Amino acid sequence: MADFPLLRKTAAGPFETVSEALGVRSGKREPSLSFEFFPPRDEAEAADQLWRSFDALMEVSPDFVSVTYGAGGSNRETSLGVVERMAKEIMTIGHLTCVGGSRASTAETINRFEDAGVHSILALRGDPPKDNPGALQTGELRSALELVHLVHQTSNLEVGVAAFPEVHPESPHMEHDSMVLEMKQAAGASYAMTQLFFTVEAYTDLVASAKVAGATMPIIPGLMPVGNAAKVVRMAEMSGAAIPAELMKKLENASDAEARIIGMDYSIQLARDLIDAGAPGLHIFSLNLSKAALEVARGAGLCR
Ligand SMILES: Cc1cc2nc3c(=O)[nH]c(=O)nc-3n(C[C@H](O)[C@H](O)[C@H](O)COP(=O)(O)OP(=O)(O)OC[C@H]3O[C@@H](n4cnc5c(N)ncnc54)[C@H](O)[C@@H]3O)c2cc1C
Repeated sequence: MADFPLLRKTAAGPFETVSEALGVRSGKREPSLSFEFFPPRDEAEAADQLWRSFDALMEVSPDFVSVTYGAGGSNRETSLGVVERMAKEIMTIGHLTCVGGSRASTAETINRFEDAGVHSILALRGDPPKDNPGALQTGELRSALELVHLVHQTSNLEVGVAAFPEVHPESPHMEHDSMVLEMKQAAGASYAMTQLFFTVEAYTDLVASAKVAGATMPIIPGLMPVGNAAKVVRMAEMSGAAIPAELMKKLENASDAEARIIGMDYSIQLARDLIDAGAPGLHIFSLNLSKAALEVARGAGLCR
């Protein structure tokens, strides 16, 4: 938009790291805007959809984007290909999972990410793939914390980690997750990004708990626009995030068109409330679609 002419429109954006985009170094207070994509599952149509959405979302000058990675490295080459292409245009975070991997193969992937132009890695454990349920026991790297260490030992990349407003499904309680976050920070992680969630309290409780444990790094809320209610309900179930009963009831009693309006109004209000509550930015799960992601970004006043 006219007020922010060329600042965010240079080839790969003005920021080198997520920390910079969040103003950790400069003291900038403007919330960041970023989008998550996943590598297409091979069909040309899906790839076309990804790149059309990417181009549309680049129009609002996000600060960075991220690309997911299949647990077990199933889509390593596709993920690297997507990351390499995006990194030419904008600062790109490569998600990396370590479940089932060896130290050597994971270190090689880290170097491939660096060569692909990535400046930041979201270091994740991942969940065991369906075809290899024992991967957690057989792999050399057992937790994201070990991956944070490995990224630091083998590259100069900035490292981010996952955070869970609704508590990680394997964790006994939020304090445990917060202790793990603090250990990741001590190992060199400089920001966290959250799993999807649906209330501002879930986010503020997480930030407060993390702070008590000494994890003071910025925690960027991950927001899933409720554009396609049925799809979001499925994803919420998979991640263990609870959809508020009142919202669920309204969605159930609505036609598809009404459900979209209800869901998007809810998502935009949540985005605004998160910013008002002090979130350092918003990371919007685009699902490789641009319309709903743009509506939330615009509704939250984050488009440039
Ligand atoms: C923003 C975001 C992006 C994601 N992107 C992807 C993706 O691209 N691909 C993908 O496959 N998955 C992705 N995930 C899902 C993630 O891989 C799973 O949620 C996984 O179950 C946990 O990953 P983690 O990095 O938090 O693991 P970990 O940090 O290893 O935690 C796993 C469990 O172990 C516990 N734990 C860890 N370390 C310790 C310790 N030292 N002592 C005691 N307990 C410990 C934690 O509390 C937690 O319960 C993403 C999640 C988020 C939030």
